[in-house]
Amino acid sequence: MSQKLTAVKGMNDLLPPDSNAWVWLEGVVQDVMRRYGYSNIRTPIVEPTALFIRGLGEVTDIVEKEMYSFEDRLNHEQLTLRPEATAGVVRATIEHNLLYDGGKRLFYMGPMFRHERPQRGRYRQFHQIGAEALGFALPDVDAELILMAHSLWRELGLKNVKLELNSLGEPEERLKHREALIAYFESHASVLDEDAKRRLHSNPLRILDTKNPAMQVLVEGAPKLMDFLGADSRAHLQGVCSILDVNGVEYSINPRLVRGMDYYNLTVFEFITDQLGSQGTICGGGRYDYLISQMGGKSAPAVGWAMGVERVVELLKDAQLIPFAKGPDVFAVVPESKSIEQVMFVLQTLRAKGVSVQMHSPSASGNPGSAAASADSVDKFARGSMKSQFKRADASGASFALIFGAEELSKGVVTIKSLRDGVGAQREESISQIDHWASSLQSGG
Ligand code: ATP
Ligand code: MG
Repeated sequence: MSQKLTAVKGMNDLLPPDSNAWVWLEGVVQDVMRRYGYSNIRTPIVEPTALFIRGLGEVTDIVEKEMYSFEDRLNHEQLTLRPEATAGVVRATIEHNLLYDGGKRLFYMGPMFRHERPQRGRYRQFHQIGAEALGFALPDVDAELILMAHSLWRELGLKNVKLELNSLGEPEERLKHREALIAYFESHASVLDEDAKRRLHSNPLRILDTKNPAMQVLVEGAPKLMDFLGADSRAHLQGVCSILDVNGVEYSINPRLVRGMDYYNLTVFEFITDQLGSQGTICGGGRYDYLISQMGGKSAPAVGWAMGVERVVELLKDAQLIPFAKGPDVFAVVPESKSIEQVMFVLQTLRAKGVSVQMHSPSASGNPGSAAASADSVDKFARGSMKSQFKRADASGASFALIFGAEELSKGVVTIKSLRDGVGAQREESISQIDHWASSLQSGG
């Protein structure tokens, strides 16, 4: 017996009608990106492992435990399925010298891979939509990105998404904070979990990002980076805040917000909801002014965010915000196959005019090899009764049924039946005039 083949745990198939929600969401995102002047970038899903180690930092959850890494059998390259896209976008920016004529505003959508324990809102293949503004130093671009995400929630109809902001300052400020942090955690050494003990001297800031509930009280009492910020860092944060204030965007300052990657400085932020249990962060981002030079590029500031598509779709579903997928404009009822060539020619004309058309096609029942579907037992040209075809036309949600009866076709006409007017009014239309009818449909007539 052959073994049943199933998808990898934590990696999901996305099927209709659920996929309609994704297509709709992506359309809304593309429109928002257009309005803010962000262009699409697509980088490979597989990148050299070193890219992520260098980009995200060695002592991070992602690099320590979550990457899907492997060796290329042929040339022994160390490769990784991207766990996030910023590192790849930065690599591409450097490789193609994208900043030669000034800053760039970019967005991406696509799958990311992290070896985490699958649960609601946490998968091993998941999808992010992200935006990166590269080559801009002023706080207005941080604010622009936050406003863009905020207007995306509004376009989607999402309410109750809270914005948390923090500043991670600059490296020297972090260094001073780091010393205070180590001293604080050392004086509470007995409460530290294994991760924290290991990170105490390598990356104590990362301890603040812990998900261990037993550590929360300790973390809350820790010295706050905010108290170590100098005038410039404070002014940058203030610059972001005042733009948000003028635009009526509410936020709260969360001094414990540190984010999961090492590359951030100054502004960091998260959009959070309390409606998804513990997986409540739907979007996170911040400034990463040192990443481009750290990865070998000419020093340039940058800022960006990434949102988790599965979590956003889950929210949209719960709030019943996903619009019903519209049925086709036209469902073609085809009683017999005799003039199928002519029928399909007419349908092509309609589609060329922008009309969406679904044709009735009888389903082949059973397995291809089974008796029911074998050529001798059923007439493979039978198209199904008019009654069953009309049932399918109704179920399709189409606005009109076009009936291609043999008698009509011989007269050069087709019957158009309205499926939405409540009475099923029908009339004949000459096939040679069908493109006029299509145009009237498109113009809402
Ligand atoms: P978390 O704290 O939930 O692990 P993170 O800090 O690791 O999130 P980021 O790396 O900032 O997440 O990614 C941005 C967004 O991508 C998250 O806010 C979340 O919405 C989504 N995301 C991250 N990891 C996953 C995952 N394993 N499954 C589904 N969505 C995810
Ligand atoms: Mg994570």
